[in-house]
Amino acid sequence: MGGQSRIIIAGAGLGGLTAAACLLLAGFDVEVYEQAGELGEIGAGVQQSANATHVMRHLGILEELRAVAYQPPVTEFRIYNTGEVLQALSLAENHEQRHGAPYLQMHRADFHRILAARVQALKPDAIHLSATATGYREQGEGVVLQLADGREVAGDVLIGADGIKSAVRRQLAGEAAPDYTGDAAWRLTVPVARFPPDFLEGKSSIWVGPDKHAVVYFLRGGSLLNFVACVELDEWIEESWTLKRPWAELKADFDGWHPDIHAIIDAADRDECYRWALNIYPDLARWSSQRATLIGDAAHPTLPYLAQGAAMAVEDAAVLTRCLQEGGDIARALARYEAARRARTGRIVAESRANRGLFHLETIQALRDAFAKRDMDRERSDWLYAYDPLTVELA
Ligand SMILES: Cc1cc2nc3c(=O)[nH]c(=O)nc-3n(C[C@H](O)[C@H](O)[C@H](O)COP(=O)(O)OP(=O)(O)OC[C@H]3O[C@@H](n4cnc5c(N)ncnc54)[C@H](O)[C@@H]3O)c2cc1C
Repeated sequence: MGGQSRIIIAGAGLGGLTAAACLLLAGFDVEVYEQAGELGEIGAGVQQSANATHVMRHLGILEELRAVAYQPPVTEFRIYNTGEVLQALSLAENHEQRHGAPYLQMHRADFHRILAARVQALKPDAIHLSATATGYREQGEGVVLQLADGREVAGDVLIGADGIKSAVRRQLAGEAAPDYTGDAAWRLTVPVARFPPDFLEGKSSIWVGPDKHAVVYFLRGGSLLNFVACVELDEWIEESWTLKRPWAELKADFDGWHPDIHAIIDAADRDECYRWALNIYPDLARWSSQRATLIGDAAHPTLPYLAQGAAMAVEDAAVLTRCLQEGGDIARALARYEAARRARTGRIVAESRANRGLFHLETIQALRDAFAKRDMDRERSDWLYAYDPLTVELA
């Protein structure tokens, strides 16, 4: 495939922007179509391990990201009410020494802004806003993306990076009906200035307990605390990042939990508590056709219980670029990309789901027993963080 081939990307989220930057850097011509009227991300955290941050170094933005990120010394798994530490993952120098790239905890808006700036530095007019993809057609040697306002955009390849409700996926693989997991995720951020000095010693923590778990970590050099808490909930709610719920519901959900969890809830802005339904989606029979393919949540939505959804989108972007770069027939390059990514993403989705069972065990003894059988640090280092999408062998 020629370097000047034209790639169309639907969606300027973390996956779409990473793909745009990787492809532009590789010499492709890229146009990105984003439904939103302005570029941005929600006010929450995102963790990126070495398997994703290798790509950020490749794009030349790793140090800029590191400067706005927080690098935790460790993530501790703790019991919900006593705070007893069950296990720890070492994530600071240790992670970077082992895997060759850092573990970063970032504000999504910072990550997105820096990625978008990199894309725009490579091609100033690459990103088109207020451009909603509705479908596409493949014709002859190309593909045409259809937009809601009637415009049509022609290119050589279409990448659907348009997230869990992907329009490209709908056409490519059919409707993928969500199945509610029974879990909903609360999210909020709190300025660290509201806590006593050295709150939680700057460590990340995953608090596990009956029917619930809570993830706590720091952002922006440790000045902001990110709180995500997953609770089992019978009632179906919308899968939306921007749905607010009453603070009192959050407070009641964590009745009986550790005082540190309540210190966070008490310090939260009362009208800034969001809750999102967590769904699972059926595996797609295929991600690719002759001229179109999917990356990120559009291809393989996941529960967030390994903090790898965006990292998988980043990996996809790097591997897809490598497959296209090798030239030759486009349909074969897309099939090769899909083959290279299926087992890896399938395992991440399955293990994320399995963590739901582990994190929500009913008794303290059951939690102690289950964690005693595991070595999370070694397990994740061996297969999850050790993957480098820039060098991994392609089938
Ligand atoms: C509570 C929670 C915590 C998480 N924590 C982590 C974490 O720590 N680490 C991690 O790696 N992942 C995490 N994730 C997962 C991560 O948020 C997603 O996997 C990631 O955002 C997927 O990126 P994406 O680019 O594929 O999709 P999205 O981020 O959804 O981006 C899709 C983009 O496409 C646009 N779009 C949608 N439809 C159209 C259309 N029809 N036309 C044009 N544009 C369109 C959207 O506006 C958006 O900009 C978490 C998820 C949740 C729910």
